[in-house]
Amino acid sequence: MTKLNIRNCARCKKIFIPVSGEKICADCRAADLELEERVKNYVRDHPGITVNQLIEGSGAPRNLVWRMIQQGQFENSGLKGAEYPCANCGKIITRGTYCSDCMGKLKQNAQKFANAMNSKRKRAAEKKAQESSGKTFSDSMYDALDNSRTR
Ligand SMILES: [Zn+2]
Ligand SMILES: [Zn+2]
Repeated sequence: MTKLNIRNCARCKKIFIPVSGEKICADCRAADLELEERVKNYVRDHPGITVNQLIEGSGAPRNLVWRMIQQGQFENSGLKGAEYPCANCGKIITRGTYCSDCMGKLKQNAQKFANAMNSKRKRAAEKKAQESSGKTFSDSMYDALDNSRTR
């Protein structure tokens, strides 16, 4: 996983090189940080406001505010009703990224993924043992199926 990757910024579509898997470019991150600062100041200047009042009052995007709540940035700020939707199903939660239902499903998927990786590894080892010359058509099909399943 050390190969040099470029990707399009998820926000402004500019091409950039992620250093540690970021989805947005440095410019957008800087803009985010500025907004976060504004949001934090707003909470400090308006003690006891609700999340909705904060979003409306500060003019910051909902998602940014929700992310800040997820990161625990308002823990001792007196912000009321720090709730936001589950990243998967949209159910209202107050901590973590997913609701408990989705967390359960994710764990199951992770297990399936691990199993699939194991069987793939096993098959690759068997293939090597056979010392076959090049891939057959059905091998490639297997790989394609594997890839679509495990994504
Ligand atoms: Zn950008
Ligand atoms: Zn959920």
